Amino acid sequence: MIRYALICEHDHAFEGWFAGSDAFDAQSAAGAIDCPLCGARNVRKQVMSPAVTGAKKNFDGAAGRLAEIAGKVRAHIAETHVYVGDKFAEDARAMHDGEKDSAPIYGEVTPAEAKALKDDGVPAAPLPAPFVPTPAKKIN
Ligand SMILES: [Zn+2]
Repeated sequence: MIRYALICEHDHAFEGWFAGSDAFDAQSAAGAIDCPLCGARNVRKQVMSPAVTGAKKNFDGAAGRLAEIAGKVRAHIAETHVYVGDKFAEDARAMHDGEKDSAPIYGEVTPAEAKALKDDGVPAAPLPAPFVPTPAKKIN
């Protein structure tokens, strides 16, 4: 048995059980199916859209998806990196020079500090604004 969601020519929705899709076609062609509400015999299967939830996401647009990705990156950084605030240049340099164990950190630098780090070959890259987490934990 197979259950179909049906609709009549007056948009009355109802359900019907059939032995199979052939049985529906045969009964429909013979006018043997009538609408329980109005008796109309022009009945067809409703078109179902089980992917409505997934499809809706696609309409949120690129901005929504980017915000979602940025949120994940932010969460990842916040989870795996330690916020060191204005000690970033100092710590990054110490790690680079081997005076401190390397660890994933993030924090702020002044433009002069950023330039000095770059000139000295200390690996540090600015985080794009959407990826900057709200500092949750601060050490030092
Ligand atoms: Zn009807």
